[in-house]
Amino acid sequence: MSATPEAPAVEIIGAHKAFGTHQVLRGIDLQIRRGTVTVVIGPSGSGKSTLLRTVNHLERPDSGVVLVDGEPIGVRRHGDRLKELPERAILRQRARIGFVFQHFNLFPHLTVLENVVEAPIALRRTTPTQARALARTLLERVGLAEKADAYPRQLSGGQQQRVAIARALALEPSVLLFDEPTSALDPELVGEVLAVIKDLAATGTTLVVVTHEIGFAREVADRVIFMDEGAVVEDGTPAAVLDHPSHPRTRDFLSRVL
Ligand code: ADP
Ligand code: MG
Repeated sequence: MSATPEAPAVEIIGAHKAFGTHQVLRGIDLQIRRGTVTVVIGPSGSGKSTLLRTVNHLERPDSGVVLVDGEPIGVRRHGDRLKELPERAILRQRARIGFVFQHFNLFPHLTVLENVVEAPIALRRTTPTQARALARTLLERVGLAEKADAYPRQLSGGQQQRVAIARALALEPSVLLFDEPTSALDPELVGEVLAVIKDLAATGTTLVVVTHEIGFAREVADRVIFMDEGAVVEDGTPAAVLDHPSHPRTRDFLSRVL
């Protein structure tokens, strides 16, 4: 991906998406600056997951375009129209967009280390030796160096999610997207995962985190976006959006989750 230095890490321009007659994204325009942490909050069904999935082209917008590092994702311009890229090209682009799911999605038949080395070996010209060295560094970073040879089922949910984060980092993504990374965890395991994400934030990785963890948003986010019914209703600093929301729908949502 040819990074344009002055381009935002992610730019979403006029994204619309419907499933059947249900309008799920109703014209989203967003720019995510490099090195920032954006937390997206909003009620269930407001389109948060669809928005994230649109960024890495797991969902194709009906109209509008997503750019990562200034490059259109999943499409190329063809005259004044957009043409879908071949699947291989989309996979290559997707490798630069880390995605951490609610349910970890680790490969159950692979060890922790194998989970982390798989993508760099498959998608990059990384040698197995280099990939393993990088994987060990990343596992250390998420506090799981000693679990390299364990299988996912032998780990707690919090540990599995930390492996999923290491796996996403192994491709050195331009941006890391988290879709409710702690929602499937027992309450006592939430903190260890949030701590790892906070650590990443401190190293300047560009993060977009969908979460209901308002405390985390307040502490770590540079920016909080409140979505409702497929639109960005409120967008600002954590203090502005969480403590002085200007929209009644934001206030109503916060009163229910706080
Ligand atoms: P959120 O993550 O904010 O809870 P989603 O983006 O998952 O919201 O979903 C927004 C709406 O789109 C919901 O009403 C959901 O049922 C619907 N939806 C999401 N994905 C699909 C799909 N693949 N097919 C049909 N409807 C979908
Ligand atoms: Mg969701």
